[in-house]
Amino acid sequence: MLVGRQKRAGQLGQARSNRVRTAADVAHRQRSRAGNVVRLHSSGSHPLTHIAENDCLHAYESRSKAAFDKIEPVLREIAQYQHDTNFVIKAQELGRLLLSLEFPGHLLENTWIAPLDMGKLYAWCVFETFQRFADEFYGEKPLAQESDADFQRFIESCGFHTLDFSPCADGRLAHTISYVLRLPYKGVRRKSYAGAMFDVEDSLQKWVEVEHKRLSESLPNSASEPTRYLKAAVYHYSSSLPDQEGCAAHGSDAVKAAEGAMSRLLAFQQGVQNSFCCGASIDLMLIGIDTDNDAIRIHCPDANGNPDGENYVDAQEVYDATLDANPADSERVISELIEQKNPAASSAYNKGLVKFMARLLFNNISQIDYVRNHFNGCYSDIGHQERFIGMGVGFEEVQLRNLTYFAYLKTVEQNAIDVDVGIKIFTGLNIKRGLPAPVVIRYDYHGNVPGARERAVAKVECLQQAMAARFPEQTQRGLIHTMLVVRDCTADNSIEVVGGSTQSGAVGGGH
Ligand SMILES: [Zn+2]
Repeated sequence: MLVGRQKRAGQLGQARSNRVRTAADVAHRQRSRAGNVVRLHSSGSHPLTHIAENDCLHAYESRSKAAFDKIEPVLREIAQYQHDTNFVIKAQELGRLLLSLEFPGHLLENTWIAPLDMGKLYAWCVFETFQRFADEFYGEKPLAQESDADFQRFIESCGFHTLDFSPCADGRLAHTISYVLRLPYKGVRRKSYAGAMFDVEDSLQKWVEVEHKRLSESLPNSASEPTRYLKAAVYHYSSSLPDQEGCAAHGSDAVKAAEGAMSRLLAFQQGVQNSFCCGASIDLMLIGIDTDNDAIRIHCPDANGNPDGENYVDAQEVYDATLDANPADSERVISELIEQKNPAASSAYNKGLVKFMARLLFNNISQIDYVRNHFNGCYSDIGHQERFIGMGVGFEEVQLRNLTYFAYLKTVEQNAIDVDVGIKIFTGLNIKRGLPAPVVIRYDYHGNVPGARERAVAKVECLQQAMAARFPEQTQRGLIHTMLVVRDCTADNSIEVVGGSTQSGAVGGGH
């Protein structure tokens, strides 16, 4: 049964199929002219692509998203029986069989007198599925990569001790670390903001924390080591529908998106310089992602090491230029390409930065083939298809594209723009069809700090009230549902559910 999201995605895919084929043909012809097309691996992949890793990542993405996407069709089926005398038994049977879920009794009772609250049941299913998804992530570690120590050694060899990335909060960038850049998620701090317009003070605070740890505990390395803190901002654009499917926070304008992100990077560097006189201990990186096919562009460093707004290396160029390279040579070939693009990049100061850029571009080759082989070179859901909103602090487990719209915030008022953009996206996806926007409100805490859990619980309750106050109509009509979760990020455990609007005794959508 093709309904809702699946049907819409199908229609989108069909409407775009001509364009996708044309784009693929053009790419094919270009490669033929360069004489490279014959050099592709027999599997149709680039010789440097990690095919087995791609297969694992695809299996994880497919099964995780399928669990969310089957909720709506199953609930449509269940809805047909709501006036039957044995409705509860039938609904539970279908829930167990098709969703492997046991519905809570309070959501199914009294349907002979009042209509079944389908929106609440839908939100409960999304939340339950999210909880299982998180339990799998922390319990089975499906995205575990190279060891933390190996990765730390690698980044130190590039001259860095910490990686701090801020992609746009758009769900189409949620897989930036684990998929697009193929970096271990534990080795990179990720904080997402609408338009990659990250909170400069928050990064400043993190920088202070990191440098203090280096001084007091020599972690991750000693403060006497001449390594730097790398802050990267990741903006995005859509090559096929640039005016519609680019970054909503920047009016779908790729140049504005890059400039906006760059302005925050410079403000952060300046902030460190003005407050601590050591702006030189910061390196900046600006990355763009084409959300149609996950190909990245990295802006080349200028003579001072700062990203050059005009000059960038496109991963597709790297893909074509390395078709003959063996893995051992690839870093050199890619580094040369970066230096050709911008001779300033070859300065001794930029050596480590170029090495790190080369690694990211190398890694992105696998992701380009991931989209080529599993999605025909262009995602069918090139627009928003997020399954829920994630609001608050945390969400390390969400490493999949288009699963979650992030609103990283400590108070709703402080980051109202991020929340409003999220509700606007979900008005298009769900609310206008009468389905609620499921909002997971989350706060991670450090379990070794006395009282931290209690404060995290108070925080999520406060965020829930602020959401209800900001969106009173949607909340009252049950068009926004919330689940409250906390997590001890110093332990390796999954999330803990501490409340929410679909729980027994909760009234409406917001309490
Ligand atoms: Zn964006």
